Amino acid sequence: MKVSIFHPEFQTRPYWWDAFTPHPLPELELPHEAQVVVIGSGYAGLSAAIELSRNGIGCIVLDANEPGFGGSTRNGGMVSGGVNVGKGYVAKALAPEQAIPFLEDAADAFGYIEDLIARENIDCGWTKSGYFLGAWSTKHFLDMQKKVDILNAHASADAYLVPPDRQREEIGSDYYRGGLVIGRAAHLHPALYFKGLLNIAKRLGIPIASKTPVIQLDEVGTGWDVKTPRGTIKARDVIIATNGYTGAVTPELKRRVVPVGSYIIATEELPDGLAEAISPRNRSIADTRRVLTYYRLSPDRKRLIFGGRAKFAPTELKEAAQILHGFMTDRFPELKSIRLTHAWTGNVAFTVDEMPHMGKFGNLHYALGCNGSGVAMMSYLGHQTARKIAGRINRTCAFDRPEFPDHPLYNGNPWFLPLIGTYFRSRDWLDRQLDR
Ligand SMILES: Cc1cc2nc3c(=O)[nH]c(=O)nc-3n(C[C@H](O)[C@H](O)[C@H](O)COP(=O)(O)OP(=O)(O)OC[C@H]3O[C@@H](n4cnc5c(N)ncnc54)[C@H](O)[C@@H]3O)c2cc1C
Repeated sequence: MKVSIFHPEFQTRPYWWDAFTPHPLPELELPHEAQVVVIGSGYAGLSAAIELSRNGIGCIVLDANEPGFGGSTRNGGMVSGGVNVGKGYVAKALAPEQAIPFLEDAADAFGYIEDLIARENIDCGWTKSGYFLGAWSTKHFLDMQKKVDILNAHASADAYLVPPDRQREEIGSDYYRGGLVIGRAAHLHPALYFKGLLNIAKRLGIPIASKTPVIQLDEVGTGWDVKTPRGTIKARDVIIATNGYTGAVTPELKRRVVPVGSYIIATEELPDGLAEAISPRNRSIADTRRVLTYYRLSPDRKRLIFGGRAKFAPTELKEAAQILHGFMTDRFPELKSIRLTHAWTGNVAFTVDEMPHMGKFGNLHYALGCNGSGVAMMSYLGHQTARKIAGRINRTCAFDRPEFPDHPLYNGNPWFLPLIGTYFRSRDWLDRQLDR
């Protein structure tokens, strides 16, 4: 008899929501005016609002759903300092000298979130246990050698290579051809980190309106009319912090971010010793496959949280969970009989140049485009955007650039994703064939 991979209590919602479920806040009356309206209440929006408030700038945060509904309570909770900047899967990879300012600011983003969590005493399982990037092919491993020095010099990464014969010190699997360790990396409980930000915002008295979608933005004089079904707010400045949920209200930005569903499964509690065997150093783990997977133990080190691009088109969660279970057992065959308790999805925002962006589109501020790594980065870019509005920056952030490229074939409808999926799968297959 075939045994189900689904635990009897299997749920299609984030494992993290067992500790904190996004919920609507008490309804508040919308003001007629605000100095700044922040659209989107994830890490970016709340980080911006907190910094604005600390600089004496009045703001309100509007979210179409519950605060934290987006990627900010759904992600893998893996926090890296710069290693993911400009991956170069589709866009041309940056030359090392071009990458330096971005690596430096990505490293700054890591320092920012680490300090914030310590200073505000946010109880979110922050664990600085490093990151292991598995090389899918020997060529990928050799390419990693070129990156180590620059990561150490400019992203304070504490990076080193792990040859295949020492890989088992990092991960209980022979799936990869060696890999790269980034010592300056961490993982956290994403929903509890979000809850920590929400609590700071509440303490500062920042108004947050849930279930309040912005349906139209009109530029009026030097400010904005921000229209919602519950009324219109006149604002001097508006910050768009909608990342993978960016919609038709900002068509010029929608054309610049491609929402891609990422999927995660959580296992039931693993038998004694198994969690330590598959992740002896409790690292965050990802790999260089184009059909990427990323995984880590739960904060209590009892379960495996395993994410990846199960499919490149909208998929039923149970089907996605089955695909991810297959990916998981490719790496750890000993997990074949382990059942899943949770599966969920959320939108990641990709950009044409695979880089995060902050800046101004016309008169509209934005912090968008996490490209899959936004726990530190989107918090940082929200914070930086607020400092810019407050006139409190003494140097321009590397991610604050006038150019935010679009693509002639993309108008906001990601019809091409299944084609990219096919291309990625073929390239992964070829990379491994060339290895033989
Ligand atoms: C499955 C998954 C796994 C991930 N894993 C990792 C990881 O391990 N490490 C990492 O660093 N990053 C990871 N990420 C990325 C990370 O979660 C995001 O970068 C980050 O949460 C983005 O935060 P944000 O505040 O920019 O946007 P979000 O948290 O997505 O919030 C956007 C908000 O905008 C609101 N909104 C949209 N339109 C409107 C409108 N018109 N009016 C009002 N509100 C609106 C939405 O309701 C939503 O709440 C992952 C993402 C996903 C989905």
